[in-house]
Amino acid sequence: MSEILDAWLGCSFECVCGQRHEVGIRRIVIERDALAQVAGYVKEAGYGEVTLVADGRTYQAAGEKLRELLETAQVKVSISVIRENAMGEVAADEEAIVQVMLDTPLSSKVLVAVGAGTVHDIVRFVAHRTKRPFLSVPTAASVDGFASVGAPLIVRGFKMTIPACAPEAIFADLAVLAKSPQAMIAAGLGDMLGKHTSLADWSLGRVLLGEHYCELSARLTLEAVELCTAHLDEIAQRTDLGLLRLMEGLILSGLSMLLVGHSRPASGAEHHLSHYWEMVLLQQRRRALLHGAKVGVATVLMAQRYEALRGLTADEAAVRLAQGHVPSELTDAQRIRQVYGDMAEQVIAENFPANGTAAPAHALKARIAEKWGDVQAIARAVPAAAQLIAWLEAVQGPVTPEQLGVEPELVEASLQDALFVRNRFTILRLQRLL
Ligand SMILES: [Zn+2]
Ligand SMILES: [Zn+2]
Repeated sequence: MSEILDAWLGCSFECVCGQRHEVGIRRIVIERDALAQVAGYVKEAGYGEVTLVADGRTYQAAGEKLRELLETAQVKVSISVIRENAMGEVAADEEAIVQVMLDTPLSSKVLVAVGAGTVHDIVRFVAHRTKRPFLSVPTAASVDGFASVGAPLIVRGFKMTIPACAPEAIFADLAVLAKSPQAMIAAGLGDMLGKHTSLADWSLGRVLLGEHYCELSARLTLEAVELCTAHLDEIAQRTDLGLLRLMEGLILSGLSMLLVGHSRPASGAEHHLSHYWEMVLLQQRRRALLHGAKVGVATVLMAQRYEALRGLTADEAAVRLAQGHVPSELTDAQRIRQVYGDMAEQVIAENFPANGTAAPAHALKARIAEKWGDVQAIARAVPAAAQLIAWLEAVQGPVTPEQLGVEPELVEASLQDALFVRNRFTILRLQRLL
């Protein structure tokens, strides 16, 4: 049981932000031997037949044992071990989704995701579309997507987040997490550190565009990342306490997304950069990189941009705003067609929705000038890039694009074009106006 998380299980309330918040997750277990508690839950819930979904590695790490535990408890189990694609990787794409659907008997009552982010994204989507609940059994503390609703999928090579469902319960076994590769733990911290820039981006949207904002969700997200940085040594040493805090942070971040029903609190420009790199690597048929590793490195890059913002006085900003040229929708659409290739129409639809009401550039510029004090306060709240680097290094995570394996040309391209990945106001969109 986790004191930090249990307070939110099954909650439903009207929030001062104007939204009704609900968390459908019923149980979260993060402890040694959490695996042994799955069967009891399944029996209690009356699920006589389950389908375990894993990849080759996570089946070895936890799936096989879980199958035994379930079968010993007289639960009927079917297995879907997701095959690698032509790249030798397991990806949340059309192929994997269809495989899991084919492997799931109609009589199966619940899906169990045994794995890290990718397996969860596939299961979350299939569970939602086949109207089954799913249980989460993370095998690595590597992403904050366990508790969330959105399934980032790769469809025809384009990374898109499809609304799906959250798990009904999460069973994170510390003994399993402790055996995961160090790179995955570092990735988990990278994904968490990204909250510093995603929260700042959300605040920009709130202040400059009047975007809906939930103080509670933002506070929980910040608490989640601070929980991790406060236990950095423990996380680096992979102690039970460190892994518990990292997992709690990741799940709490997921819960804060659940509350508002979208990923805004936990995903800003650092994620757009990461998604952009992912799509380009995919197009070039290069090996995928861990989500959190990309996010960590991109967070450092975005924090540098927030730092640069901090040095800009209101007068300097006013001059830049007056001089800055803002591309028209037409120019942006042309640019998107140039750089996004086959995905261009999808990206254009994302950026210029048919019923969209984007503020005209001059109005937005006036708003930025007027709210410059607020913008400065937002920028000041982002930790210095050097601090983020120190945190990442403490867990042996990559800190530069070079260490990650992303070349300077790709970084440059993403700094220009990743803002089109999502129609969300971020530091990248603000910088374009300055
Ligand atoms: Zn993430
Ligand atoms: Zn709220």
